[in-house]
Amino acid sequence: MPATLESTSDATLRLFLSRIRTHDLMAFLHHCSPDATARILGLLSPRSAEFMRTAHWDADTPERVARAEALLEKCAAESHPCIFCAILAGKSPASFLYRDTNIAAFMDLYPVTPGHLLIIPVVHAESLSDVSPTVTAAIMELAQRLGRAVSTSDLGCDGFNLFMANGGAAGQDVFHAHLHILPRFHGDGFGFRFPGHYPQEAERDLLDQQAEHLRALLES
Ligand SMILES: [Zn+2]
Repeated sequence: MPATLESTSDATLRLFLSRIRTHDLMAFLHHCSPDATARILGLLSPRSAEFMRTAHWDADTPERVARAEALLEKCAAESHPCIFCAILAGKSPASFLYRDTNIAAFMDLYPVTPGHLLIIPVVHAESLSDVSPTVTAAIMELAQRLGRAVSTSDLGCDGFNLFMANGGAAGQDVFHAHLHILPRFHGDGFGFRFPGHYPQEAERDLLDQQAEHLRALLES
């Protein structure tokens, strides 16, 4: 077990697991002792743990292991600076196109497509779950307006996506909630990949059970 992991609390490990990307975690676990691996798998959801147990391991990934260890150190130190908060504070540059007391929008520094921009809450919140309903509504209203703007701009795009990642498994890499607006062009090369079993129609009983469970959570 790496020294940094032996002295790491479950709370820090949970933070680490919420932030790490799936393939970095796979490489990291491959690098850990059986005891450390069992401890980490015990903190994951049953579904994620099962995936990690059965996934194909790619041993030749030192960069991924190094990135995971750096993230673990950051989480342990609890002193990781938030780049978006630094941007909002004027300590890091960004090309803003909107800002009020609740939300701000600026161009993505690493655009996936031309015109790629981000909308963020002004108050730091790690994921959508932590953003207030009022600010969430403001984000979506601005997304609608900016979607119209990019569609009529001289970018010449053919459509646009809204994308928000919540958690490392979902692809989040900056842990200040942010909504991407991605102008899309035919043949731009960006897109989601479907799992190998897709499409496969689900059992109605299972869908009903899931809907009932989530409906109960909504009402609680
Ligand atoms: Zn922040």
